[in-house]
Amino acid sequence: MTIRSAEFDDIYFSPDDGAAETEYVFLRGNNLPQNWIGRDYFTICETGFGTGLNFLVAWDLFEKTAAPQQHLHFISFEKFPLAPDVIKDALTPWAERFGHKIDQMLSQYPLRINGWHRLDITPNISITLIFDDVNNAIPQLDTPIDAWFLDGFAPSKNPDMWSENLFSAMRRCAHQHTTAATFSAAGFVKRGIAEHGFTVRKDKGYGRKRDMLTATFSADETAPKQPLTAKSTSKKIAVLGGGLGGTAAAYFLAQSGHDVTLFEQENTLASKASGNPRGLYNPRFRKEYDTESIFYSSAYNSAYKLFKEFGDEIDFTPCGTVHLINDEKKQIRLPVTRVTWNWHDDHMRIIPKAESKDICGIELNCDSLFLPDGGFVSPHKLCHKLVQNIKVVHGYKDIDYSAYNAVIFAVGASFMDFPELEGIDLHTIRGQITSVKAPNNNTIKTLLCYGGYSTPACDGEITCGSTFQRWRNDTDIDPKDNRDNINLLNALLPPEQHIQEDQITGGRTSLRTASQDLFPVVGHLKDNMYVSIGHGSHGLLSSVMGGLVLNDLISLNGQTPLPQNMLNKLAPARYLKAKA
Ligand code: SAM
Repeated sequence: MTIRSAEFDDIYFSPDDGAAETEYVFLRGNNLPQNWIGRDYFTICETGFGTGLNFLVAWDLFEKTAAPQQHLHFISFEKFPLAPDVIKDALTPWAERFGHKIDQMLSQYPLRINGWHRLDITPNISITLIFDDVNNAIPQLDTPIDAWFLDGFAPSKNPDMWSENLFSAMRRCAHQHTTAATFSAAGFVKRGIAEHGFTVRKDKGYGRKRDMLTATFSADETAPKQPLTAKSTSKKIAVLGGGLGGTAAAYFLAQSGHDVTLFEQENTLASKASGNPRGLYNPRFRKEYDTESIFYSSAYNSAYKLFKEFGDEIDFTPCGTVHLINDEKKQIRLPVTRVTWNWHDDHMRIIPKAESKDICGIELNCDSLFLPDGGFVSPHKLCHKLVQNIKVVHGYKDIDYSAYNAVIFAVGASFMDFPELEGIDLHTIRGQITSVKAPNNNTIKTLLCYGGYSTPACDGEITCGSTFQRWRNDTDIDPKDNRDNINLLNALLPPEQHIQEDQITGGRTSLRTASQDLFPVVGHLKDNMYVSIGHGSHGLLSSVMGGLVLNDLISLNGQTPLPQNMLNKLAPARYLKAKA
């Protein structure tokens, strides 16, 4: 079967033998495997992931020809992600050749939502799969690329993909030995590559195609980048803070082979804002798909995959999340988010109020934004799970920062105890959640977000919350806050399901930490010091993404294949510079 795009009226690969075409055009065209011999970290960048066939062919050859310590990183852009079952069908002709590789790739395949998604396929093979228009995303790529696979549909059918954005990225990411290959021989493609520092050659095309192009960064040009040598060797790392920010960072760093010790001041982990028994993993919706949206959208996929893997151990409950469009601001924002974030209908859609009862179990008086894979986990259990194989030391007193290659401050509301964090504009926001005994006639099936939020009944209990009080910093349980939480929920419930005060079974109050612009602060501080703090109300997502970011910064010596605008926006420098 030949898979064809209706959008572009073109085929994904040659009907004769797509894999042979990949070998000829992209591998031979980039002088592979010869060019990766002796290179411990090799990065291929492709335009147009499609079915992943090019990736599978490259992985197969890498496995056969690379030494055990070598790592292949495959970066690819895709604006129209195919569904996993469509990919599986399209790859049927190579089911025997690639066997488990297809399943392994698909088991890591992201939700079809915009974002920079990292897939750890094996310890030696990783993918950064960027679901977005290449023109929107590639200006943010700034990492050394060894070989370019310029796929994408024919330039005549998809001229947008072969743009100045692409060609200038090729120069920005080039080192002296960077190569490129494409099935196309179009004049403007040839000129675009040549005008950005490459020496381009015409070559015989595959099969019935007459010509194709190959290119090498020109010896006469000064290369902007050095090749990456190796994924850094194991470092000794101290993480301060046993809440979500600290445990997530510790987890990803330990996964990369670093020697991590986690320090927690209290006698138990997750004793503060990360200790709630239930927490929603929820993006912070923005109207545009801007820098902050890239962060939250990417975080949603990473967190969802991780939580799914941990499953029952962290009470993973993907019951769906219904965000009520219940005020004017949301009426303006959320329908636009639905479009600009470009999440597939399977993962985000607007539900008219007439359909609300079917979806969430009660009739709502407004439309909603529905995330079918949304849900909740136990943040408390998550923190414990993340560091179950990591050394944990209770108490900060004995830490000698100079004994570590990296020290990460993830100390939440204790930020004032650390002079290293001075200058980062942090504050706390008090939040109280309330647990109530679910009435027998309760019908709610999903999470509801209406300004406050509530969970469906689980083990006979509903959790609702959370107050948002910047002006208070006590953590006493306040009966009035419990009443406020219940009243907000009751305003949605049919009268017969109303919660009474005597159904309250408990509550928990803690201080979240947020920075002045309410975006988390993640990145390099100074010397060997890093920070992951200010995770606020969306901490389940932002702490996971923060951990991934710190792992990339530390493991790849700063050459991270993550969007530069996101890294800059996260970095503590945004506060430290302003103060300087
Ligand atoms: N390399 C693929 C494979 O191994 O199956 C085949 C790629 S197919 C010829 C081209 C791909 O580019 C399609 O999946 C298409 O959706 C994607 N594409 C087209 N225009 C794009 C754009 N502006 N940004 C990102 N991806 C785009």
